[in-house]
Amino acid sequence: MQYFLPIVQQLMFFVILAITIFVVVLRVSQIRKNILLGKSFNRSDRSSERWKMVLLIAFGQKKMFDRPVVGLLHLAVYGGFLLINVEMLEIVLDGLLGTHRLFAPFLGGLYFWLISFFELLALSVVFACAVFLLRRNLFKIKRFWSAEMTEFPRTDANVILITEIVLMTCLYTMNATDSVLQMRGDEHYPAVGRFLVSGLFVPLFSQMETGTVFFIERIAWWVHIVGILGFAVYVTFSKHLHIALAFPTVFYSNLQAKGKFANMEVVTQEVKLAMGLMQESEAKDFGIEQFGAKDVKDLTWKNLLDAYSCTECGRCTSVCPANQTGKKLSPRKVMMDTRDRLEEMGEMINTYGKEYDDGKSLYGDYITKEEILACTTCNACAEVCPINIDPLNIIVQIRNHIAMDESGTPAQWNSMFANIENNAAPWAFSPSDRFNWAEELQKQN
Ligand code: SF4
Ligand code: SF4
Repeated sequence: MQYFLPIVQQLMFFVILAITIFVVVLRVSQIRKNILLGKSFNRSDRSSERWKMVLLIAFGQKKMFDRPVVGLLHLAVYGGFLLINVEMLEIVLDGLLGTHRLFAPFLGGLYFWLISFFELLALSVVFACAVFLLRRNLFKIKRFWSAEMTEFPRTDANVILITEIVLMTCLYTMNATDSVLQMRGDEHYPAVGRFLVSGLFVPLFSQMETGTVFFIERIAWWVHIVGILGFAVYVTFSKHLHIALAFPTVFYSNLQAKGKFANMEVVTQEVKLAMGLMQESEAKDFGIEQFGAKDVKDLTWKNLLDAYSCTECGRCTSVCPANQTGKKLSPRKVMMDTRDRLEEMGEMINTYGKEYDDGKSLYGDYITKEEILACTTCNACAEVCPINIDPLNIIVQIRNHIAMDESGTPAQWNSMFANIENNAAPWAFSPSDRFNWAEELQKQN
């Protein structure tokens, strides 16, 4: 066909694919490098329990179904997107080899049903994305418009939803024009029939000249594939990284009892030493140079992985009692700030080397003392997170830094600490006065 320049298209495709792979690999290795800036610790115990969680929570999206309608719509987008991308394999091979519908001859009649099934899934993706766009922008659900949801996080969500709708529209356009070209006996388009959904759009193109139909088919094909490759690059810079990172994040979830702090042994020893209940000679060396975390490097690699995986859905903030009672604390913001600071640190290390100090830190420049001290440590944020992210773990580590490295706790807390130290209770009464209330009762009787 005279409009068809297979070699040029093949070459263009090869170059675009190579650039995409190069950028994605570069970005993924940068993310990995950033995550590994965190402190190492082992979380590979109870592996069968962990795999079960991956199946239920990451793959099956169990926690999303706490809100069933949204859960169903999210599953439609996620499942649809994953399955439809199986078609990508054929599209990529077609692009590289200059073929068209490479798998059709091998799959025979099954090919028609497979593509029709993808088209039906695409319909559910378009519907779900449209509902999500309306929820965010028209109905303005509160948690998508709170303080930390500034321009970029809001645009980020919209970009992805709109891109998905455009990609699915291209899929239908591509298949409908393809059907017209098949009917006209073009040898490059194997006779696979009209697919279930795109077949409905065939009348839109059937009156057009063959050259125009061919042009539209090619444009739709290219926008579709370049869109998907562009999406792959964009995702690595966006909150949508969770489509990949949700799996390791869930696998390495905290399996300890809720509320059990990792550093209790160290803190108990410090308190015992301070109260004279333990001699220095009896103290265990935990190899700790500092208490808590001031910057991202002081957090663990799991905290940093969590930060990259956060979907910014705001469910944690919506159940946070501190946030709900008007305090500045938002667990979602804690995760977003951690990621932003980590990105900043990664860039800084790339430019100036590992030893460079920009004089900034996560606590102080991103997260304030007011936010950290507002946390009630109730664990609701970790409990509700659809992918088991644990914002409380970061908050507690920063609070440890404030209390133990900076001695920065408020005066009211300090008097409580002093009371615990002197009276073995948070109140300002001597332990010998504890039963005074009972004596009063006896007098009354
Ligand atoms: S643990 Fe802290 S941050 Fe999380 S929900 Fe409770 S008060 Fe909010
Ligand atoms: S931490 Fe979890 S619940 Fe909170 S915004 Fe991120 S993904 Fe959503």
